[in-house]
Amino acid sequence: MRLLIVEDEKQICDTIAKSLYDAGYEVDTCYDGEEALECILAEDYDLIVLDLNLPGMDGMDILRELRQKNEETKVLILSARGQIADKVEGLDAGANDYMEKPFHLQELEARIRSLTRRKFVQKDICLESGEIKFNTIRREAYAKGKMVPLTRKENGILEYLLLNLGRPVSQEELIEHVWDASVDSFSGSIRVHMSSLRRKLKSVLGYDPVLNKVGEGYKIREESDK
Ligand code: CA
Repeated sequence: MRLLIVEDEKQICDTIAKSLYDAGYEVDTCYDGEEALECILAEDYDLIVLDLNLPGMDGMDILRELRQKNEETKVLILSARGQIADKVEGLDAGANDYMEKPFHLQELEARIRSLTRRKFVQKDICLESGEIKFNTIRREAYAKGKMVPLTRKENGILEYLLLNLGRPVSQEELIEHVWDASVDSFSGSIRVHMSSLRRKLKSVLGYDPVLNKVGEGYKIREESDK
């Protein structure tokens, strides 16, 4: 899951980014309104935390521009503007949630969890397919009920495949959603993480639970694939 934090107070921005990174998300940051709009239009983020009072461009204008092109990306406004009229304006312009400053990191994280689950119509904190389970809060994977220790990237790949059951996910899509901008995204590096993930799951399951459909991408093996 890939997030963008737009916030001009660097310390707040970096604190949010660190805590979300620790919670398992890939996180980019932006301190300026105009730059933020460029990033948003160029990349495919799952969720954006958006401040309103920004240098360069107001957050509300960014939101309106984004919504003309894209209804999918979730937007959580995080602003010191706390009047009811501000909240109504933000939600009417297409924000999915609105939080007022000062705020608690724990609440922000909970709201982000809720919004990103909603994107994939996933109500449970645990994702599941056959003998594989993934706990999205604890960031733990299980195969046949046994915990399988995975790296951060392997967790990200498994989570994304479980959120997209039933369809193949291409390498390019995995790079967009599981990697952040700081990582150079060779397809080779995806292959390395993917094969290590498959090897670890296979060692517990006795079979490889990931299918690689040539020209389409990767998907979790389901009943209908057997
Ligand atoms: Ca601000």
